[in-house]
Amino acid sequence: MERNTESGDVECEYYDVEQVHAVARYLLRTVATACIEKTYGDLFRSPVSALDEAKKELIDFLHTRPPSPPSDLNATHSPSDRAKALLDQFVHSKTKLLSRVSSKLVSADKKEDKIEELEQDLQHNEKWIFGQRERIAKDFIKALDSTRSSICALKFSSHEELAEHKSICPFKPITCENQGCGHVLSGLHGAEHDAVCGYKLLPCEQACDALIMRSQMDKHCITTCPMKLVQCPFFHVGCGHTLPQGMVEEHCSASMGSHLNSVLHSMQKQDVVVSSLTQRILLLEKALSISQRSEAVDLGNLSLTVRQQDAKIKSLESEAGKLRQELKQANMSSEVQKLRRELQTLQKKFES
Ligand SMILES: [Zn+2]
Ligand SMILES: [Zn+2]
Ligand SMILES: [Zn+2]
Ligand SMILES: [Zn+2]
Repeated sequence: MERNTESGDVECEYYDVEQVHAVARYLLRTVATACIEKTYGDLFRSPVSALDEAKKELIDFLHTRPPSPPSDLNATHSPSDRAKALLDQFVHSKTKLLSRVSSKLVSADKKEDKIEELEQDLQHNEKWIFGQRERIAKDFIKALDSTRSSICALKFSSHEELAEHKSICPFKPITCENQGCGHVLSGLHGAEHDAVCGYKLLPCEQACDALIMRSQMDKHCITTCPMKLVQCPFFHVGCGHTLPQGMVEEHCSASMGSHLNSVLHSMQKQDVVVSSLTQRILLLEKALSISQRSEAVDLGNLSLTVRQQDAKIKSLESEAGKLRQELKQANMSSEVQKLRRELQTLQKKFES
């Protein structure tokens, strides 16, 4: 089909779903931010009370202002990026002086939290339904997207021609077929999404037979994958085999003989260790009892020695007494001899 944007009555309305949806989400963010800015520091107004006013001003802004993106954004940025930049300009124009002043006093984080909170409230309670935002976002992108990179807008002269085109239009919305995903996108981005979709089933990276979701692959490979390498459960007794965990059972029944041998061998080794330990314990016990006994003997010896010494001292004392006595007696007899000698001398003198 020839591309023709100049003539024809009927136009293909397909667009890049992801781009438009991104802007539709950002519209809610923009309005939430505007509501917070409008009521910040005003004790008498809740942020949500400013919603209708903020929505009207935003729509007016999009209609009256020729959408020229800020100068730092160019055609290389996606239409949704340029749309977001323009929405930021709108927010900036709504920032109240009061808010600018008070935002210096109150932390920016706190304000961000409030915007986040309001955005969730608006979304959860459908205070600005998605369908409306989607339409606005689409028109907005259409106005920005001069190269038609995100909007089809091909024109056809009949509804039949249009219908024929729509079946092959690159912007035709498709739903990701990977089970559990449900992501809606334009057909031209299908392959791109499929290459990163977390729900995509892929053959196991470790080549087991299973098909595993991309987002679960790492977990599968390190936990339940039968090809995960493990040590043989008999490695403690010396089997050095490393094998896929799915083959452990097979290995164990095939190696039952050698595993039993290893177990016996290791039990024998343990017996040797146990008996040598028992020996050591016996020796230690013996050594302990000997040392206790020898201490007792030492004490006994000591008291014996003391008693003997006492006895010896006593006998020595009595002996000393006897000796002293004898000595006295000996002294007396020497005196008698002396006297005898003197007597003999006197007798001699007398005779002569
Ligand atoms: Zn089309
Ligand atoms: Zn998907
Ligand atoms: Zn696997
Ligand atoms: Zn083994």
